[in-house]
Parts: sequence; C-alpha cells; structure tokens
Amino acid sequence: MNEKLHTLITLLLAFQSDPDWWPGSSVFDIAVSAVLTQNTSWNNVSKAMERLKESGINNWERILESKDLETVISPAGFYRRKAATLKNLAELMLKNPQPSREELLNLKGIGPETADSILLYALGKPEMVVDAYTYRVLKSCGLVNEPFNYEQIKQLLITALGQDATNVDILKRVHAAFVEVGKNYCKKRPRCEECPLNRKEGPL
Ligand code: SF4
Repeated sequence: MNEKLHTLITLLLAFQSDPDWWPGSSVFDIAVSAVLTQNTSWNNVSKAMERLKESGINNWERILESKDLETVISPAGFYRRKAATLKNLAELMLKNPQPSREELLNLKGIGPETADSILLYALGKPEMVVDAYTYRVLKSCGLVNEPFNYEQIKQLLITALGQDATNVDILKRVHAAFVEVGKNYCKKRPRCEECPLNRKEGPL
C-alpha cells in the first residue's frame, strides 16, 4: 500500500508543477473563495467574487458592514449560510489574522476542507487539503475504503509525504493534481487510458 501511495504522489507531482493554481492574489480573496466554493462550481464562485469586487466589498470590515451580502454572493448558492459564515470568518480574521485550525473549525459553516484550504492557500500553512476528488482518486486506486473519513485520509497522505508534508508548495501541488485528475480523468466513467496516473512504470 505505501509503495503504491508513494508512486501515486510521485505521479501527481510530475503532473502538476504549479503550486499557485488557486485563483486570487490576497488572503481575503482566497479565504472568501474557499467559503464560496462549498458545494458549487468555480464558475459560480467567480461570478460571486466579481460581484463582491463591483460592490466594493474587498476586505473583512466591508464584509461585516455589508447589508446586502447575501444578494451579492447569491451566484455561489447557499447564500444565506455562506453570508453568515463569511461574517463569522471576518470577525475572526479581524481579531486574529493568523487563526489556528481549531479556531477556524469552531466557526459555523467551516469544515475541515474549508479550514485547510484557507490555511494552505490563503495563509501559507502546511496543511493537506482533502476533497471529493482526492477521495475518488484514492478509492479508485484501492488506497482508501468507504466511508469517507477526512482526518484519516489527510493523515494517510501526510504520512506518505514524510518530510514533504511541511513543504507548502508540495502540499498545494498534490492537492491541485488530485483536483485535476479527479475532474478530468477519474470521473464516473474513468478515462484510465488517458490518465496521467496510469503509467506502465507505476502499479496504478
Ligand atoms: S482515471 Fe483510472 S488510472 Fe486515473 S486515477 Fe482514476 S482509476 Fe486510476
């Protein structure tokens, strides 16, 4: 199992060389988009981010002041819940711009995937992000079983990465590669023949 997982990580890293793939150039943009992307496509997130920009909501103070945040972010769906989460996050970020994982997880509406995305991509902390694509690829390769368990999968990957688990760029690249492979190849009907993880030198 470990050898297979190491091979998979090597292939993922060979496939994805860009650590800066998450759109957004500020902590604010990346953290907000990490909340907005819950249960929706990136296309909808982009529309909501554009509307935030047009409305001048470009920092945490403005999030707290906004009276029509729900309307502004509505293209991202689940807008009532997401607006409430953004207000909670804004309060925390103003109090502590470098929140811990525990502080993020204590906020209503922020689960482990969103917390780790904020920590890794917005704040540059060494956290492994696990998502539905990660699970699908690992399951298809026979490396995890049902049911989905976020912390177990995260720990499995951290252990396999060893020292690289402290390297922020590597963590970003591994997650990015899982997303790309899951989205484009490891679908309901897997496109194994074209998949970058299907190499004759590897056991996948
Ligand atoms: S598409 Fe095929 S080779 Fe690629 S990860 Fe999925 S099951 Fe494995």
